[in-house]
Amino acid sequence: RRWGFSLSGELRQAAARDPERVAIIDERRGEVTYGQLLGNAERLARALRGTTGVRAGDRIGLLCRNHAGMVEAMVAGTLLGADPVLINTGLSPAQLATVAEEQRLRILVHDTEFAEKALALPPGVERITEERAAELVATAPPGELRPPEQDGRTIVLTSGTTGTPKGARRRTPSGFGPLVSIIHRIPLHARDRIMISAPLFHTWGYAALQVSFALRATVVLQRRFEPAGCVALAAQHRVRGLFAVPVMVQRLLEVPPPRPNPLRIVAVSGSALPGGLATRFMDVYGDVLYNLYGSTEVSWASIATPRDLRAAPHTAGRPPHGTRLAILGPAGERMPPGHVGRIFVGNDMLFEGYTSGAGKESHDGLFATGDLGQVDHDGLVFVVGREDDMIISGGENVFPSEVENLLADLPQVREVAVIGVPDREYGQRLAAYLALHQGEALDADAVREYVRRYRARYCIPRDVYFVPYLPRNATGKVVVRELPRFR
Ligand code: ATP
Repeated sequence: RRWGFSLSGELRQAAARDPERVAIIDERRGEVTYGQLLGNAERLARALRGTTGVRAGDRIGLLCRNHAGMVEAMVAGTLLGADPVLINTGLSPAQLATVAEEQRLRILVHDTEFAEKALALPPGVERITEERAAELVATAPPGELRPPEQDGRTIVLTSGTTGTPKGARRRTPSGFGPLVSIIHRIPLHARDRIMISAPLFHTWGYAALQVSFALRATVVLQRRFEPAGCVALAAQHRVRGLFAVPVMVQRLLEVPPPRPNPLRIVAVSGSALPGGLATRFMDVYGDVLYNLYGSTEVSWASIATPRDLRAAPHTAGRPPHGTRLAILGPAGERMPPGHVGRIFVGNDMLFEGYTSGAGKESHDGLFATGDLGQVDHDGLVFVVGREDDMIISGGENVFPSEVENLLADLPQVREVAVIGVPDREYGQRLAAYLALHQGEALDADAVREYVRRYRARYCIPRDVYFVPYLPRNATGKVVVRELPRFR
């Protein structure tokens, strides 16, 4: 029987052919082989069916950090034909309640640390702590688990940057398109040691896990990212590939790199990778950095290799094998190289549809990512930001990323966000939030003067705020609605 390219399909294959191979090295539990991982997931599935009555078609929410128990619960759900819904651990209790209702969760498996948050769930959603799940695995009655008609399909939530997170149901491609498209650009090997620091509940971490299992890799998991521990685990387990989000890469620069450094691949996605950061990171870690542009809906749409990033540090690279990427103008016309337009993407990794909320638009089989960008004469893709974030000040269009990239080049600046705020005279004006490196100083006038030197008048931020750090979500995106609290 063919299972298609899915997490449980890959795990079944690996457990059948290579049961003794270590699938996960869990920070707390240690080594778990592919055979054990599948066995545990099957036992949990049987126990869940017995105790909660969960059935095919039900939805199982997961509110967990990166650990083996999360993977077991996810697979257990699909083995019952139930759909696991991966939930962002950073959601507020109120957001969690909304998601639970919109996604019609039947049960929620959660880490101990989220017990209080889980109290916000609507009545009727059964809560299962990680300890209870472990107990269920240990005490499950023996028996066979008959495979469902169809494996449950994972629902990954979008980051909720533009509102309530939307559930995106993943497709199960019949071929190995996603795997081919990534190894086409990133030199991952079969049986590699891979550390996944990007959250497993996010599309990037989840996809990294799928790819790792397909490669029969050994996956190292640190429950919660923290740079010194990440470096120590990478050194201890001779990790060759690290999957992370851009802020993690920034935080890795705050601690000494592993000596000797086993990392040959550091792949980031989920939010924009500032060009200055890419260069600084490669100066310390060597030419090992890959930047993937993508979203929950399209997986990855372009990949920048270290060579691309050396040539153009802000680039998101090129569409990989099997992906079409088009830059379209307002009337759906193709934009010439060097001109900004809306980014549309088509590939066989496209999600199947939303499980809640409105959809995004598609055009000629291509999906509107909601981002603006351009492709240069060499075919390199540059993402300038979200359509919704574009600022119109005095009738002029300003892309926040353009001003952010400029300000990020100031040596004093650690991180920066530029947003539009309502203005009576101009419609919108620019506000810049700057977090400086320790011990550095800068004043608002110097910031404005610097921008004035390089950009048009309407790009100059009228409001300049110095803040200790920027509020970010799990993928490293700045949470704009929280910025005013920092003033
Ligand atoms: P929501 O759809 O709920 O508002 P979201 O779009 O933030 O949330 P994700 O699917 O996690 O949810 O994020 C995808 C978006 O992240 C992309 O559309 C793009 O704006 C941004 N992004 C991801 N990777 C990159 C990258 N490498 N460079 C630039 N932007 C990126």
